[in-house]
Amino acid sequence: MLKLLNDICNFVFPPYCSICGEALEREKVVCNWCFGKIHFVTNKACRICGKPIKSGNICKTCKKNPPDFDFIIGCGNYVPPLSNIIRFYKYNYRTSLLKRLACILYSAYQTRGDVKRIKLVTWVPMRRAELRERGYNQSRQLADKFARLSGLRSVSLLRKARNIPSQTKLSNEGRLTNVLGAYEMDYGALDKVSEYIDNGVIIVDDVLTTGATLRECATALKEAGIPRVVGLVLAISP
Ligand SMILES: [Zn+2]
Ligand SMILES: [Zn+2]
Repeated sequence: MLKLLNDICNFVFPPYCSICGEALEREKVVCNWCFGKIHFVTNKACRICGKPIKSGNICKTCKKNPPDFDFIIGCGNYVPPLSNIIRFYKYNYRTSLLKRLACILYSAYQTRGDVKRIKLVTWVPMRRAELRERGYNQSRQLADKFARLSGLRSVSLLRKARNIPSQTKLSNEGRLTNVLGAYEMDYGALDKVSEYIDNGVIIVDDVLTTGATLRECATALKEAGIPRVVGLVLAISP
């Protein structure tokens, strides 16, 4: 039965790398070569938002308008093949890919000793219509898997205060105003984990573009009394 199921799967999803087309072992979606080509963040980055900068420690945006999050840990730059892998993952949910992406989050987290006290992990909520259409929230899947790897507790703390229009087609400035006040705290959920909140929260997302979404989420979390909010994202767009 299992073999039949596997054969059907291989027929529906042929075992070729979704990024480069190379033939693959069963159950994989992206080949090792493509994973090996990911550019991890090595360039000079803003100490707060993780965006690449040429000089100094903090970027102009963070200086002018400091965010409520303490800092962002970014794994890689949002360039191919990581950008292709994330896009593929976002629209074609595959367990094997989720595992590898969660491992990438975990390795970046491991390099930062200053977040080890944090016990809680949460994620960026998705628009209801989008969630209905896709059937899953990729940030939540990543947060859950990452929490399992790191022995932390994954908890749904935020929800959409209103249904905001999609961010994808907006300018940088448009994105900032579009998400203002868009997230609110689920106080019922917060009560259940109140013993851990003093250590702070890690919030997981797939890509940081302008940082507007994570800024708003961090504002809601801090207003609820969480003293420390650290973002953990797969990729940071330059
Ligand atoms: Zn490949
Ligand atoms: Zn910055």
